[in-house]
Amino acid sequence: MVDSVKPERFLAERLAERLGPGRVFMDETTLHEYAMDASPCYVRPRALVRARCEADVVATLRVCRELRVPVTPRAAGTSLSGAAIGPGVVLETTALAEIVSFDPAASIVRVGPGVLLRELNAFLATRGFRFPLEPGSLEWCRIGGMVGHNASGYRSVKYGQTKDYVVGLRVILAEGEAIDAADVRLDSTEWEALVARVPVLEAVRRTVEEHRDAILASRRPVRKHACGYDLWAVAEGLARGVFPVASLFVGSEGTLGVVTQVALRVLPVPSRHMTLLLFLDRLEDLGRIVGDLLPLGPSAMEAVDGGSLDLVGRDAFRVPASARAMLLVEFDEGDVGEIARHVANEIGPRYALSRPIDLESDPERQAVLWRARRALFPSLLKRPGRRRPWGFVEDPIVPVDRVPEFVAFLDALTQKYGTVAGIYGHVGDGNTHYRPLFDPTDPEDFERMRALRNEFDDAVLDRFRGAPSAEHGLGRIRAELLERTWGREVADAMRDVKRAFDSDGLLNPGVLFSDAPWWETWAGLEARTPM
Ligand SMILES: Cc1cc2nc3c(=O)[nH]c(=O)nc-3n(C[C@H](O)[C@H](O)[C@H](O)COP(=O)(O)OP(=O)(O)OC[C@H]3O[C@@H](n4cnc5c(N)ncnc54)[C@H](O)[C@@H]3O)c2cc1C
Repeated sequence: MVDSVKPERFLAERLAERLGPGRVFMDETTLHEYAMDASPCYVRPRALVRARCEADVVATLRVCRELRVPVTPRAAGTSLSGAAIGPGVVLETTALAEIVSFDPAASIVRVGPGVLLRELNAFLATRGFRFPLEPGSLEWCRIGGMVGHNASGYRSVKYGQTKDYVVGLRVILAEGEAIDAADVRLDSTEWEALVARVPVLEAVRRTVEEHRDAILASRRPVRKHACGYDLWAVAEGLARGVFPVASLFVGSEGTLGVVTQVALRVLPVPSRHMTLLLFLDRLEDLGRIVGDLLPLGPSAMEAVDGGSLDLVGRDAFRVPASARAMLLVEFDEGDVGEIARHVANEIGPRYALSRPIDLESDPERQAVLWRARRALFPSLLKRPGRRRPWGFVEDPIVPVDRVPEFVAFLDALTQKYGTVAGIYGHVGDGNTHYRPLFDPTDPEDFERMRALRNEFDDAVLDRFRGAPSAEHGLGRIRAELLERTWGREVADAMRDVKRAFDSDGLLNPGVLFSDAPWWETWAGLEARTPM
């Protein structure tokens, strides 16, 4: 029958049959739009399905399995690593946007994956709570995507990553089977019943047990990562007699199943917070002052290097001429006024500050202090010429005490390849966002990008013992680094986990597990703006 009908029409008909009208889209405009996320990658899908309920997700997965068509789950599509696009059906889950329940006593909220982070926080704020993570994309990103990438952001120095808040997930597996993923004790009848229904979990347990030593030894000395399955958390859980099933899916980038509900732990809104802005005359002091401030429990800690301050324009943001680094710090717990005074009077004088520290508790004036940090990326975009800040080395993380050395390395790398760059990021975690400007459509510039990326990867992984992604994920752009990040044995264990859940390799192929070079799917850049 397939031979007698064009495959696209056959796919459309089968999906429409099971999903009903108005859910399947195959027009040129839609396929072009959904061939992109916020990365430079471009992968044209065969169809877009807009799921309106869990049953639509199940039906889509079943049809795609029957027809051997890949499926890429998608939320808002702000992935910076090409993880929200794919060659088969893009399964959009934004309409699963219900706030299902909120239990203030337990501080647990249950939401659909399509709920916008800002809408969740607006809902929680009226009840005195919040989900404290704040990615730069906080206006657009959705909870399903945050789970997919294990997102974090400005406040991760205190509040960690999405994985630290997920207490349960409802996930539809590749064959359409639903599981409620949460911590399960291995000696419980619940585990027996779960494994009887979903035998792959026992296979995964065995894989993790078998490779336990390698998994524990592969951990890099960094505060966070978004580089594949969190086998470490599973190994740790198993050692305590618990299988943390949800941990397996957080950060899995849509490669193990489609999330249809998320249970999140939320926190009370802090009563007030204090913002401090300081400028250092010596970049070398950055690591030391960060080391002095971390024990005080900051809730944000952002740095911008001197070269990047030149790019935003020093005068426009009152940046002192002598400053080689800017540090923005916030505190939201305890006597924040007293902590701020301690920083200003005791810690600040130990360093060559470019001017006295700014301290602000008023929200409007705090926003003014954040302006230079927030203006950085837009300023990079406004620079004249064809070179743009495409993301291909934008999310490394290194041990916190090596950040100044790493920033100096990035500075030298930028100069070596004859360009300028934004170097900024969540310094309290050791996470730098590095955006050198190049024109990948110019063959000579493209060769420079390749050479820079090779040097960058070697330095991050070998010299600094860091990881290629702290929060944006391996996706397509960094998938080739999976094995170098964790070593052959652990990468193979991740491949075994993937095969156990998705034996036909239909869930988000090309993401996390791929040897394709990072630029292979880049396209259409002339008409696009980096994000
Ligand atoms: C300007 C900008 C700033 C950013 N700043 C930050 C930052 O500070 N910190 C940070 O961590 N990230 C940041 N990001 C990256 C990105 O916004 C986050 O990872 C975000 O959480 C992705 O959410 P999304 O809804 O757009 O997900 P998408 O891009 O749609 O998807 C992300 C991943 O999750 C998977 N996924 C989506 N929905 C589901 C589902 N229902 N089931 C299973 N898998 C699913 C997708 O397959 C994909 O692998 C930034 C992005 C931009 C464009």
